[in-house]
Amino acid sequence: MSNIADYHNTRAILERHGFSFKKSLGQNFLTDPNILEKITATADLSDQVNVIEIGPGIGALTEFLARNAAEVMAFEIDDRLIPILDETLADYDNVQVVNEDILKTDLQTQIKKFKNPDLPIKVVANLPYYITTPILMHLIESKIPFAEFVVMMQKEVADRISAEPNTKSYGSLSIAVQYFMDASVAFIVPRTVFVPAPNVDSAILKMVRRDQPLVEVSDEDFFFKMSKMAFLHRRKTLWNNLLAQFGKADETKVKLTKALEEAEISPTIRGEALSIPEFAKLAEALHRNMA
Ligand code: SAM
Repeated sequence: MSNIADYHNTRAILERHGFSFKKSLGQNFLTDPNILEKITATADLSDQVNVIEIGPGIGALTEFLARNAAEVMAFEIDDRLIPILDETLADYDNVQVVNEDILKTDLQTQIKKFKNPDLPIKVVANLPYYITTPILMHLIESKIPFAEFVVMMQKEVADRISAEPNTKSYGSLSIAVQYFMDASVAFIVPRTVFVPAPNVDSAILKMVRRDQPLVEVSDEDFFFKMSKMAFLHRRKTLWNNLLAQFGKADETKVKLTKALEEAEISPTIRGEALSIPEFAKLAEALHRNMA
């Protein structure tokens, strides 16, 4: 079967349309059908699943999604790609291309346009790397109950999102995502399978939404603010980061000491040693004592 992503097909499509890549839009197109097959398999699609794709490019991944899912809604910001997608995806009647910025579109309204809006929705995409984190946080924090995300990103970002405590990659992004999603790296993708080749290797990250957030907190905003605070100066102890956040007055120190005691956390450790449940305990104790 011929694929849009076959290297010579991609080249021919790009040449026919005189397309020039925009680096500013993170345009690195996949030209390896085996990788696309693996991404689609990782997403475990069926005719009972709708898919949202971000950045279809010339349709390389879209085509594989269309072959395996009920319907695909693909958001593409670059108007120059719309006539190309009309041509490359002409054979698929289960694809809607939406010429909008994924960060600005009204997703709640858009998803009502699926023929069967009651099916579970998975997000499958080769993300534009310059806005990977904003897109993920935008989608995860939206009130839309996406079942799963199977997304390609820079390997380094995938490592940060899925990191465990006490590793160099662990930080506030790991906590922000793992609070909502169970995240794991599915496989690594070498830079050589893209045109143009990016400067970094990539990874497919699979994130499955938890039925409940990983931990229960009384104030989510405060919890996320505290997790950012703990990693503000990675080399400093938790105590020093707390002083930087709350101030060094004696009264503040007394309250902080009490909060740490209540959370049973040593002031001399670094933020990176705390598991997410420990962070939650700390945030709750700080909330009680410092708010
Ligand atoms: N899916 C294609 C593939 O795998 O070959 C292209 C992936 S390319 C890494 C990222 C795509 O996202 C580009 O087509 C780019 O124009 C598009 N894009 C960039 N920013 C976007 C945004 N804010 N909203 C929607 N699409 C965007």
